[in-house]
Amino acid sequence: MANVDDQARVQALHAILHRYAHQYYVQDVPQVPDAEYDRLFQELQALEAAHPEWVTPDSPTQRVGGKPLDQFAPVRHAVPMLSIRTETDTEASGAQNFDTRVRKELGLTETDPPVEYVAELKFDGLAMNLRYERGVLVQAATRGDGETGEDVTQNIRTIKQIPLRLSYVAPTLGSGVSSLPPEGALAPWGGPAALGVPPVLEVRGEVYMRRDDFEALNERQRARIAAGEKGEKTFVNPRNAAAGAVRQLDPGIAVQRPLSFFAYGLGEVTPVEQGGPSFGTHYDMLQTLKRWGFPVAALVATADGAPELIAYHQHIGQTRDQLPYDIDGVVYKVNSLALQQRLGFVSREPRWAVAHKYPAQEQMTTVLGIDVQVGRTGKLTPVAKLAPVFVGGVTVTNATLHNEDEARRKDVRIGDTVVVRRAGDVIPEVVSVVLPAETVERGAEFTMPRICPVCGSAAVREEGEADYRCTGGLFCSAQRKQAILHFAQRRAVEVEGLGDKLVEQMVDAGIVKTLPDLYRLGLTAQAAIQQMSVDELFQTLSVQERTKLAVEELKTLERMAQLSAQNIFDALEKSKRTTLPRFLFGLGIRHAGEATAKALARHFGKLDAIMDASEEQLLDVSDVGPIVAQSIRTFFEQAHNREVVEQLRACGLTWEEGEPAVQAPKPLAGKTFVLTGTFPTLSRDDAKDLLEAAGAKVAGSVSKKTDYVVAGAEAGSKLEKALVLGVAVIDEAAMLALLVGDAEGGNKGSS
Ligand code: NAD
Repeated sequence: MANVDDQARVQALHAILHRYAHQYYVQDVPQVPDAEYDRLFQELQALEAAHPEWVTPDSPTQRVGGKPLDQFAPVRHAVPMLSIRTETDTEASGAQNFDTRVRKELGLTETDPPVEYVAELKFDGLAMNLRYERGVLVQAATRGDGETGEDVTQNIRTIKQIPLRLSYVAPTLGSGVSSLPPEGALAPWGGPAALGVPPVLEVRGEVYMRRDDFEALNERQRARIAAGEKGEKTFVNPRNAAAGAVRQLDPGIAVQRPLSFFAYGLGEVTPVEQGGPSFGTHYDMLQTLKRWGFPVAALVATADGAPELIAYHQHIGQTRDQLPYDIDGVVYKVNSLALQQRLGFVSREPRWAVAHKYPAQEQMTTVLGIDVQVGRTGKLTPVAKLAPVFVGGVTVTNATLHNEDEARRKDVRIGDTVVVRRAGDVIPEVVSVVLPAETVERGAEFTMPRICPVCGSAAVREEGEADYRCTGGLFCSAQRKQAILHFAQRRAVEVEGLGDKLVEQMVDAGIVKTLPDLYRLGLTAQAAIQQMSVDELFQTLSVQERTKLAVEELKTLERMAQLSAQNIFDALEKSKRTTLPRFLFGLGIRHAGEATAKALARHFGKLDAIMDASEEQLLDVSDVGPIVAQSIRTFFEQAHNREVVEQLRACGLTWEEGEPAVQAPKPLAGKTFVLTGTFPTLSRDDAKDLLEAAGAKVAGSVSKKTDYVVAGAEAGSKLEKALVLGVAVIDEAAMLALLVGDAEGGNKGSS
């Protein structure tokens, strides 16, 4: 009975794995994380091991990669491109298992010396076979199904790291000085250092995309999508992006997707008898490839036996996140080529190599809900609540969806199965949704709330911004600490001594909930702050100092704390007397920095006038554009924010108010000027400043819309164009007259 079930399971696994492999190798759009694929693959391997009679030639365990695409010319590999056995035991035992297997195959006993290996990185890209004939790159082919790959030479030529031509010197075979090695020598031509490039050379390696190149590419793709370009998409990961670029039909597009390359092996090479090179070890071969001009990863190392493999695996595991490219494990290879030959192959993989993986950084799980969190600066972030999943070495239950656009683009919904990624210290993120083959009923589309989930103030998204922000900056409890620190900083109202730590403690202890609470601190609060200060002072001492503290010294510490608490109270008292620009800046209105606060104060004179100003009135202030005006308006539209301002005034914060500045007349509002040539008294910049201050626009080129061209000495093509278009041409003096509103004054030149 179990047998029938198992057999059905084998069938099902064939179907699923074939589908996933096709999506991964042929379409370059993997639907599930590698870990999920590997898990199913191993399940099939285990079933086949228990029932060898069920293994069919078309089983995914017997095949490599995917069928080549018809769009590319097929390339039959002279030497098949195989796979590597994967060791999914990510612990040290994974390396131990491999060494044990190799020793057993070689018939070594415990007393025999350790086997020498080469340990390399397992780059997460795609395998490439580069064929050079007489030193010239003639063909680049993908692995395909291992027997036949795809001709992608055009695209590979765009990779700068791949040499198109090697310094080739034809071997002088049969001539007086033979280039053939002496009988019995391992390497001809005097050893690897002197090896020349053979007439036929196939170099194998990995084409990959660096992480920074990947991020930049996705950034460009997002801009294209935002600009409405059809058919554009972002890429799931660097491997996927690299595979897509290599198998791009248009080399023009491929060239925009920066790829890199690492060499790690050979394909067909001119045989030794015909003057080809002969290497003793894999390591020597890599060093020679480097000398011939191929990039070889610097982190290649030789390792004696399992202990050194384990050390390498651990070392790379710790530095993995700092590498500029993705790896999904390390590869161990038996170093001696003679031993490699003795070990040979099993179906699709060599016995002399293994890929030792690291804990997966991507896993599948289910979305239980989508929360919206508010950050310290008021930024709203959608966060997926997940069924707990072990990924990147920790159990993850939350993953960021970044912002509304990302959440929509990925179309994550409650109940969905998703791929979660956690790499290094980066916060976990939802990469994509895994949709089942058949259509299913899904949850509702995600929409961003228009009010802050923490305080209920309006949440707005400004034009050109990706994030929604809570506008209740002063009131929202999520932003409390940030708001207080901003208000208390030196450039705002300045409360000396009120730093990060104290604010953190006061807010966490519930002593201060809103800004005005700062000024209402009573005796209990004073005592609490004192206690905090004692703790804080205590923290500054070393362990030895603490244990040595005598009663007398503790008392000193307390006195100091009292003093520091008193200092805070004095500083708060002092801060009450401030200026309007400092107070305004301290409110932390988005986009309203110090300069804007000063301009607002100068323009309106009084706080109430600013609080009640319409967007149009705000736009009259020099320095204030539409975004700033809207931000100020929205801020004061929030009843909570106005309430806080009133409370602060009630707490005794005062400043001098003035009269609104008289509006400078703008006699040239709506007029467009173009400047050309050298003026007798003004520099170009000065002229521009004067015109703009009078409300005019200064453009760079002349058109029908130009009102005046101001021409100085040696005016060029702009003057000509003005004459052709019939635009008024004036000199500096006439311009100065216009500035003071005297339209008739000065010379209105005609040429
Ligand atoms: P493999 O794991 O069998 O390894 C062989 C490949 O490793 C080579 O072809 C080469 O491209 C690469 N490689 C990287 N560094 C190397 C080095 N230093 N030396 C030698 N080779 C090196 O690769 P595979 O057979 O292409 O496929 C297996 C991998 O693909 C697994 O990780 C699997 O999870 C993934 N996969 C995922 C899906 C999916 O749906 N997510 C589907 C199919 C396969």
